[in-house]
Amino acid sequence: SKTDPFLENPIEIQKKLIDNISKNPMPARIMHICGTHERTIAKFGIRSLLPPEIEVLSGPGCPVCVTPDNDIDTAIILAKKGLTVVTFGDMLRVPGTEESLFDARAEGADVRMVYSIDDAIKIAADNPDKKIVFLAIGFETTIPTTAAAVLRGLPSNFYIFTSLKLTPPAIDLLIQDINVDAFIAPGHVAVITGTEPFTNFEKLGYPVVVAGFESYDILLAIALLEKQMKAGEAKIENAYPRAVKPEGNKIALKMMDDVFDVSDSEWRGLGIIPNSGFVLKEKYANHNAAVQFFDLYKDEISRLAEVRQKKKKHCICATILTGKANPSNCPMFGKKCTPTTPVGPCMVSDEGMCHSWYKYCRD
Ligand code: SF4
Repeated sequence: SKTDPFLENPIEIQKKLIDNISKNPMPARIMHICGTHERTIAKFGIRSLLPPEIEVLSGPGCPVCVTPDNDIDTAIILAKKGLTVVTFGDMLRVPGTEESLFDARAEGADVRMVYSIDDAIKIAADNPDKKIVFLAIGFETTIPTTAAAVLRGLPSNFYIFTSLKLTPPAIDLLIQDINVDAFIAPGHVAVITGTEPFTNFEKLGYPVVVAGFESYDILLAIALLEKQMKAGEAKIENAYPRAVKPEGNKIALKMMDDVFDVSDSEWRGLGIIPNSGFVLKEKYANHNAAVQFFDLYKDEISRLAEVRQKKKKHCICATILTGKANPSNCPMFGKKCTPTTPVGPCMVSDEGMCHSWYKYCRD
């Protein structure tokens, strides 16, 4: 809008924000929890514009990156057992314990890429003789589209494998484990949830600012967090009011509530986090891939879990997702592991930290 001062003069405002942040900076470790924020930070070199006292860390905010090996392995097993597995393109390239969905497709399994759940439903409608399993990943930003599709009605041969994640419980857990002073909250999540789920951080004494996705949004969030820290405050501020309402999107929240129950969920690098995922409600059990198929193939699922336990891990994605390392700490970064030859999930998706660093931050 013409009344938005950022849009009228973004360069000037960004210079002012950087000046402001750089004036007597307070040492701070600020964590964002969003792959899109990381992409903006890396693309615009925001870390290089900040004084050395301010460190910006990346948390578990990329849906592809936080999907655990177990879910990828299970999807591969289902595909190799003759089901049709459909999911978003990046998921096909994430290495599982022994192979990726892409590899399984090369061996003859029916694995297909889709852009949305609606594409996946069309595949089911066009192939009534096949069983179609949609591997659903994502955060609060995309979960409402899955809920809306369920409420519209699904073909009888369509099953949902939910690997959906809720952001705030993961951050609650991170707070106990990492040394962080303040958080940038993801604006697109808050568009759906509102600001309420982030109030827990405020209660625990952490400043939180909900931010949008332009470079000036990130700089504004950092300036506001610094202001709070200098004043000894810890509150939640909404720096993305052009999209986020405090109460969120009530229609989307109701759809999610009608379709899913909150459940414990496994996150890559963080383990099983209580109440951090969604499963289909019992009334949708006919469309729940876990209910319909996991027991049938439990021996194979357990075998891969044992292989996984014994396998030596060289990828440090899990450490990167918890803000304890950055991609340049990984000896494979930019050598064995590149976007065309990803060793771990953080290099696959363009929301992954390794991918962003490869694209924008290499010397
Ligand atoms: Fe994993 Fe590759 Fe990132 Fe290293 S560079 S942490 S192997 S994704």
